[in-house]
Amino acid sequence: MKPIQMVDLRTQYEHIKSDVDAGIQEVIDSAAFVKGAKVTTFQHHLEQYLGVKHVIPVGNGTDALQIALMALGLKPGDEVITPTFTFIATAEVASLLGFTPVVVDVDYNTFCMTPEAVEKAITPKTKAIVPVNLFGQNANLEALKQMAEAHNLHIVEDACQSMGSYYKFNNGTQKASGCVGDIGCTSFFPSKNLGCYGDGGALFTNDDELAEKIRVIANHGMAVRYYHDSIGVNSRLDSIQAAVLDAKLPHLNDYIAARQKAANFYNEAFSNCEQIVTPTTAPYTTHSFHQYTIKLEGVDRNNVKEALAAKNIPAMIYYPVPLHMQKAYRNERYKQGDFPVAEKICNSVLSLPMHTELDNEQLTFIVENTLDIIKAIR
Ligand SMILES: *Cc1c(COP(=O)(O)O)cnc(C)c1O
Repeated sequence: MKPIQMVDLRTQYEHIKSDVDAGIQEVIDSAAFVKGAKVTTFQHHLEQYLGVKHVIPVGNGTDALQIALMALGLKPGDEVITPTFTFIATAEVASLLGFTPVVVDVDYNTFCMTPEAVEKAITPKTKAIVPVNLFGQNANLEALKQMAEAHNLHIVEDACQSMGSYYKFNNGTQKASGCVGDIGCTSFFPSKNLGCYGDGGALFTNDDELAEKIRVIANHGMAVRYYHDSIGVNSRLDSIQAAVLDAKLPHLNDYIAARQKAANFYNEAFSNCEQIVTPTTAPYTTHSFHQYTIKLEGVDRNNVKEALAAKNIPAMIYYPVPLHMQKAYRNERYKQGDFPVAEKICNSVLSLPMHTELDNEQLTFIVENTLDIIKAIR
């Protein structure tokens, strides 16, 4: 059996080596390392794939979130609502820009922020909602969008983990994840659903005016060279990363299908185990399984993780501490007990190996050992 890894980028590369190598070589031959043709080509291919008017490539997913918030024209002290159970980036960029991140609790089943919690957190200072489409499925975006319209708020989707997922509207239509809100942000970090071989990210929007603002902000606030209309940043996807992404994009649907297949394997194997709560996919979304995250009930998650490690099965805790209990945010306005669902989730989640190259032998080994371990330490 091949060694089990959380993510196996090496094996994935072997299947697409000739395309990736040729793309990288083309960039080197052209010497257009920054703002080269490859970046524009990939941008257009991704626009087609997502069915969105504008893709603006940038340096990473965190930059994408920061630039999105900069483009909305918020004022210092304006409030931005984001979930407490997530990676810190959404709250972090709001804080850096002088806005106030307001965190809310999440749903136990989907791990995403609930519209009810958001509604309660809205104040006259609220200007934007930043849902995170966590682990690969969309938050309840249609409900959030209706709320945003009623309160005149912007929606910036953190789609860093949900590339390749679709949101299903009540009327039967669907849109690519990241293309439902005013702006969507994604990351091309190597382990993401569509990952490059370094850092990368992008913003999505159907709004021409916002797209222009975003392009200018990402380029030093400069629409005409050396004339700076606003304070911007320097954030670009480099051409070599664009070449890698352009080689991988045609395989993205297969990659998502491989993740879903592995998730189904896990779900079936764990369906009769009382201690394992398998992930739920909400009816309004497809799931791209960026992570396969179970919750353990009545058995110590940390013990399970250690016992798996002893069998050379890696597992990760995404995330051990909710934002409101991070040192960076404690003492401001939050305390332990404020968001009980997120706190419970942080103590019980375990993410199992999930990637495009898992085979049945590896999956069988993982589930058999997980079930044995739980039986033994119960
Ligand atoms: C990965 C990730 C980010 C940040 O992306 P980087 O490219 O690493 O800056 C932001 N939000 C979420 C939910 C992520 O998973």
